[in-house]
Amino acid sequence: MKLERKARMISLGTVELPKTFRPSGPVSTAGPGAGERNVFFRSGKGRVRLTAADSSPLKLEEIDGGEVAILEEGVEVARGVLETPLLHCPRQAYITVSERCIYDCKFCAVPKLSGGVKSKETVLEMVAKADDTGELEAISLTSGVERSPEEEVERVADIVKDLCRFDVPIGVSVTPAKRSSEILKVAGADEIKYNVECLDPELFIKVCPDVSLMKIKTALEKAVGIFGENKVFSNVIIGLGESDRALQAGIEELAGMGVLPVLRAVYPHPLRAGEVEMVRPSPERLVDLARRLKRVLDDHGLRGDAAETGCYRCTGCDLIPHRDL
Ligand code: SF4
Repeated sequence: MKLERKARMISLGTVELPKTFRPSGPVSTAGPGAGERNVFFRSGKGRVRLTAADSSPLKLEEIDGGEVAILEEGVEVARGVLETPLLHCPRQAYITVSERCIYDCKFCAVPKLSGGVKSKETVLEMVAKADDTGELEAISLTSGVERSPEEEVERVADIVKDLCRFDVPIGVSVTPAKRSSEILKVAGADEIKYNVECLDPELFIKVCPDVSLMKIKTALEKAVGIFGENKVFSNVIIGLGESDRALQAGIEELAGMGVLPVLRAVYPHPLRAGEVEMVRPSPERLVDLARRLKRVLDDHGLRGDAAETGCYRCTGCDLIPHRDL
């Protein structure tokens, strides 16, 4: 899939499906786009995730032989196949443990949806079913914060211990807590993600009022010491009104620690309408940022294609250095 075309599709973010066609699989419960139904489109080695919408500039058309095309104003943008997600995304069991959060980051739907908390037994059952398909290549666990980050880390670590039996790489994305990296590493996690969300310090205070950017950065630095380089990730949302200067400096800082930033186009969730600026980045900005990110990763000897779990492995939502470019 051509980089510019994937960027175009990510920038638009949605696709209109034929009337007779509805995506299979459950509604996503992860992160800012929680509560939406997605399709995964693959063309060559490229993959893109699009949210199914009643009206979108992108239209999906079925073609003979199981292929589909994505069209914009009647012109074909890409041709490929739809992939069935295993759990949330293709080939991974990507599970949200606590679908609720005590924090109130202004772009995130999870606190508004205030969903359930999965027991260890439920998670194990879900992964066992995914494993039965023969397609399970990785497990990724993410979690909001039901009561406290410390309790959440203990809950997820306890689940990770039992998930080791599936013998696939395990990635974890949680809010950092005291000794969280040590605890999760000992439990059996292979990779870790602590999300900084916004790298513009002035804006951060407004969009994540209950969280400390400094604490997350400190936790990331410690995590690299425990998990190693190419094993630590951090989501950075693009489109909250952040300055390019702060963004570039933040990306350099994270990569300098050995952390791989995940540059994620903001998803303007209807449940957060009007709370904070949320503008999908243009395709040009996405390509420019992805190229800059690749240069910075190269400068620090980091590799996007070394990831075994999570978003750097999935690639559905982002332009991933060393995979998409
Ligand atoms: S890139 Fe990450 S958030 Fe996006 S679909 Fe894949 S696993 Fe989910």
